[in-house]
Amino acid sequence: MAKLELTDLHKNFGKTKALDGVNLKVADQSLCVLLGPSGCGKSTLLYIVAGLTSQDQGQIKLEGNPIDHLSPRERDIAMVFQNYALYPHMTVAQNLSFGLAMRKEPKKVIQSRVSETAELLGITDLLGRRPGQLSGGQRQRVAMGRALVRRPKLFLLDEPLSNLDARLRAQVRLELKSLHKRLGATMVYVTHDQVEAMTLGDQVVVMENGKIRQTGSPAEIYNQPADTFVAGFIGSPAMNLIPGRLENTPKGLVFSCRREEISLPKGLSPRKSPLDILLGIRPEDLHLGHGKEIKLKADLRLLSDLGPEKLLQLDWAGHELTMRADKKALPAQDETLSVSLDFEQLHFFKDERRFELT
Ligand code: ATP
Repeated sequence: MAKLELTDLHKNFGKTKALDGVNLKVADQSLCVLLGPSGCGKSTLLYIVAGLTSQDQGQIKLEGNPIDHLSPRERDIAMVFQNYALYPHMTVAQNLSFGLAMRKEPKKVIQSRVSETAELLGITDLLGRRPGQLSGGQRQRVAMGRALVRRPKLFLLDEPLSNLDARLRAQVRLELKSLHKRLGATMVYVTHDQVEAMTLGDQVVVMENGKIRQTGSPAEIYNQPADTFVAGFIGSPAMNLIPGRLENTPKGLVFSCRREEISLPKGLSPRKSPLDILLGIRPEDLHLGHGKEIKLKADLRLLSDLGPEKLLQLDWAGHELTMRADKKALPAQDETLSVSLDFEQLHFFKDERRFELT
């Protein structure tokens, strides 16, 4: 049984379809990351699960039971926001215990929960300080702690690291990952940062325009993007998408693009008629030299030295191809390069949807 199950959720704000038929299952003890561009509906989804916004249609189940009729308080869900507001006049210990005290938990229970949580988060030394005396990362941990002391059924995190600088963000991200494991908690985490999504998520949900485009492990999302949106959104630099045709020739099945063509392996089923498609190639799957199955000639237009690697902008059949190359690669501007890649690294899309060649 899924810990959280969303069925056909819809939410409109005027003419804006913030959620347009969302179905999702989040497994118990997993970390599910909602990823997508600004405005795709991630926060709306979280707010609806928390009960802070109501859906127009659809159902939410937590541990198998419908919770739509419950108030936010009754849902037993904790939410950590982007702008985690700690009470400035209270100490860290008071900030942590506030929610439990409001619920009239016995003092002993509160004390042991607070010290346990502080231990877990490594903030025991900070219990006597006020938020103004903490660093950004420490404040973030206290905000997490406030959610953790409650031992809720579900954690919702809305871009909780976005106020931290890049270094701290990477550090707190790792802490959060190990904390999630230790706690065995179920978390739904919103971000528009794909590195964050790929490092944190057991399950990554890619959203666009109020719809889920794909749900899968980070590897599935990266290696088998379900459509051209996911293909272009995940991965940096983005996957090259080249328009062309799949057709039979006396040589067998080929992908043709203007005057250029790529011969596909023998043994693939022939096509009755040509098919207009997009061919996807990740920048890191292109290699300099002839070493791989498919060989191309492309003109180098621009070379950017990024330090650990070089980025090459190539022209192949009038299309720009981005390629990642080793930092030691030394091609010259406007040189015609031999580039190769393996067949299994090609991605095929028809009408935006992925398909496999058989
Ligand atoms: P971001 O990454 O920028 O936070 P998001 O993916 O979380 O974006 P949402 O905040 O869920 O996106 O918004 C989804 C859509 O609904 C957007 O077009 C937004 O403008 C709209 N929207 C959200 N809340 C409201 C509201 N209270 N009133 C009107 N429109 C809203």
